[in-house]
Amino acid sequence: MRVFVLPPTPRALLLDFDSTLYTNPAYATFQTEVLIERLARERGESLEKTKSLLEGFKAELRAAGAGATSLGNLFVRLGVSIETSIAWREELIDPFDWLAPDPLLDKALEDLASRFDLALVTNNPASVGRRGLAALGVEGRIECIVGIDDTLRSKPDTAPYSLAARRLGIEATACISIGDRYDVDLVPALALGMGAILVDGVEDLRALPDWFAAVLS
Ligand SMILES: [Mg+2]
Repeated sequence: MRVFVLPPTPRALLLDFDSTLYTNPAYATFQTEVLIERLARERGESLEKTKSLLEGFKAELRAAGAGATSLGNLFVRLGVSIETSIAWREELIDPFDWLAPDPLLDKALEDLASRFDLALVTNNPASVGRRGLAALGVEGRIECIVGIDDTLRSKPDTAPYSLAARRLGIEATACISIGDRYDVDLVPALALGMGAILVDGVEDLRALPDWFAAVLS
């Protein structure tokens, strides 16, 4: 875990889902692969061809000094609207195929919810985010879900983070974004004046209540 900015008086945690609330590299990889396969089918070309196109875009971004972006934003460059990405994700991704209840995470979120308002900010549609929380057995702990369909903007756009803060009724400077990807989950939050904590997976999430108790006491 790495803390980039800790607000003096944090009141809300804006949590990423994938590879933040669970650690399951196979599921994270599946989500990318299944969408790229769907795109290849749409384009009537081989999977290898589509993958190399996407790698080319990523290399261009790197060469331009830009940070990593979301798969959804890369798809837009290949002519796939955010709306289409949303439909594909709803059709192809079912968290219940991959995730199981996590009582330790549930306990951690219960503890965190006694101190903070909790929101989920995911690049999946809100329905997939909600099913993900249910698959982990923690759906009751999160009071607000912002999915890609809420703003039609994909992290690292700032719009999902602004909306989450607005829905919670908490100013940006009292929010902390917590996620596993610096460029996607933390850069937009930092741009809005939020705090930011990088995690390596759910193990870090489970340790957060004790960490906050120590640093905020
Ligand atoms: Mg993630």
